[in-house]
Amino acid sequence: MDATAHDSTQHTAQPIPFKAETRQLLDILIHSLYTEREIFLRELISNASDALTRIDFEILTNRSVLDSSAELGIWITADTQENTLTIRDTGIGMTAEEMVQNLGTIAHSGAREFIHAFQESAKHPAEGRSLSDMIGQFGVGFYSVFMVAEWVRVTSRSHLPEAEAATWMCTGADTFTVEVAEKADRGTVVTIKLKEDASEFAQDHRLRQIIRRHSDFIPFPIYLGEKAEQVNRQTAIWRQSPRQVEQKDYEEFYRQLTLEVDPPLVHAHMMVDAPAQMYAILYIPASQERGMFSLRREPGLKLYARKVLIQEYNRDLLPEYLEFVQGVVDSEDLPLNVSRESVQSNRIMAQLKKLVTSKVLDTLRKLAVDDPSKYNQFWAGYARYLKQGVAMEPEEPEGLYSLLRFHTTTHPGEWSSLDDYLQRMPPGQEQIYYIVGDDERSVLYSPHLDVVRRAGYEVLIMADPLDAFMLVRLTQYKEHKLANVADADLKLPETPGQEPESEEAPQVEMEALVGRIRQHLGDQVSDVRLTTRLTDSPARLVDPQGAPNPEMQRVMRLLNQEFETPKKVLELNPHHPILQRLNALPEPSPLAGLIIDQIYEDALLIEGLHPDPAGMIQRIQKLMEAALEIKP
Ligand code: ADP
Ligand code: MG
Repeated sequence: MDATAHDSTQHTAQPIPFKAETRQLLDILIHSLYTEREIFLRELISNASDALTRIDFEILTNRSVLDSSAELGIWITADTQENTLTIRDTGIGMTAEEMVQNLGTIAHSGAREFIHAFQESAKHPAEGRSLSDMIGQFGVGFYSVFMVAEWVRVTSRSHLPEAEAATWMCTGADTFTVEVAEKADRGTVVTIKLKEDASEFAQDHRLRQIIRRHSDFIPFPIYLGEKAEQVNRQTAIWRQSPRQVEQKDYEEFYRQLTLEVDPPLVHAHMMVDAPAQMYAILYIPASQERGMFSLRREPGLKLYARKVLIQEYNRDLLPEYLEFVQGVVDSEDLPLNVSRESVQSNRIMAQLKKLVTSKVLDTLRKLAVDDPSKYNQFWAGYARYLKQGVAMEPEEPEGLYSLLRFHTTTHPGEWSSLDDYLQRMPPGQEQIYYIVGDDERSVLYSPHLDVVRRAGYEVLIMADPLDAFMLVRLTQYKEHKLANVADADLKLPETPGQEPESEEAPQVEMEALVGRIRQHLGDQVSDVRLTTRLTDSPARLVDPQGAPNPEMQRVMRLLNQEFETPKKVLELNPHHPILQRLNALPEPSPLAGLIIDQIYEDALLIEGLHPDPAGMIQRIQKLMEAALEIKP
């Protein structure tokens, strides 16, 4: 190690001890086996960018700045022979005193939290998180360089014209030196002697990859190598006025961000000043499945604070049900040195989340109006997310209702919104009717539809398992209550031309049959009774009074295999030919028993409650045999 060979004054400066806290941090980092060591470069570039931002401001307000016309930029060069890496900037620079102050103690708030978390985890080793988790989570600022460095030398010249250049040098965890140096131009040069196992960071291609990954939108040019090729895109398109950005730029940025092949369905560009300052570009991907080469490995938005990337996957800016949204959020109100941990608890974050969430929902509502077929494409891919939102979102699921789409009994092949349904509602209808079932086709045969069909009402089909969860919350839309057609007490308004509901005569005749069926089915059902609600179907099953509502039962069945559905009431249609003829059969007949069992099991089947449909085959064969015996 020939650190002192670079000492321009040719005599060794007095070593200055690091503060205890810093020493501890350095000790951890020097011996760290953290696999994502590449983040050290992000930290150094972000420091250079901060220094450039500060001088940028200084030049605007202060005339006596050294090198006021120098290009503002960052230059990175590596020497594979020497295994060194150099990061130079033309930023604000540091005086010797500032170096002692800034590089001798922990400035970075993340580093301080890291130390704190480390001490805590040492106190409670059992629940301790792994060291590398913590490094990744907190970001440790300048000192992260010690994950890859054998020694580090920082030479800087402040923007103050009369200040002398100085060199800060550190070769280990205990002390550093600061001494006068030769440097004519303003700014800072950080030279790193890489550890042997860190020689990858002297390779230009590796450096380019890291810069693109972590620092692509740093607002100053980053030049790499001897030829000083600019590697970052630099422009933060989200900070440009939407009028300046073309559709193809949005798509190109999306492609760079995600490496998805298909362009996004829709994007939104936000620029907000209150209650919090933010820029954002948000995308709805064409499909909720990620492409084979997608760059986005996890859900979350890219979060920048003042153009510096803070978090690759931030999940605190959107509710979980919108986690498919891609994009970037950048705020001037988040402190530059905000750490990953403190991001979560930052007050500004809650405000940003509100803004981002309502923008996404507005964008979807607008899409539904402007381009219904594209919205239907969205719905086909993302329905489950929005349903999950209705079921789980504690605040205002109402905001999602107009985004829901349904197939209905009168429009089974197309997606209808609740507003479409309301528009088609005939005069006199007050409630929104729905039917729950296992699959859309069999639902259409349900006996529960008899009565609403007779009244000419449209019924929403809820055949997705998630619908039951959604219906626990979705009970009303715009003054209209939602009503399950399977509800035994379903209230239907009088419709003109409808037959009166009670007809005494057949009821009396049928009472004996009801008794026989009750006796035959025994405790398989909680009761058997007649109904006037059926027209085309002989029977149906409804819940007895006091049972949990059908959606709740469905939710419980889905969550718990063991859940026992309460015994149902079998309702019979006294006008149906099967029941009329059954009634006419001589009293104890084996055929009547078969028919009663079959009526009951058909009703179970249509409810999706039949435990063993194939078990019906034998009985159906017997019924066919009996039918063939009847002479024409
Ligand atoms: P943070 O960036 O969060 O303040 P760091 O540990 O990354 O913490 O950096 C410590 C301090 O060192 C910075 O606040 C800054 O004052 C100083 N510093 C680091 N790098 C540079 C640089 N390239 N130019 C000027 N000052 C720098
Ligand atoms: Mg920093």
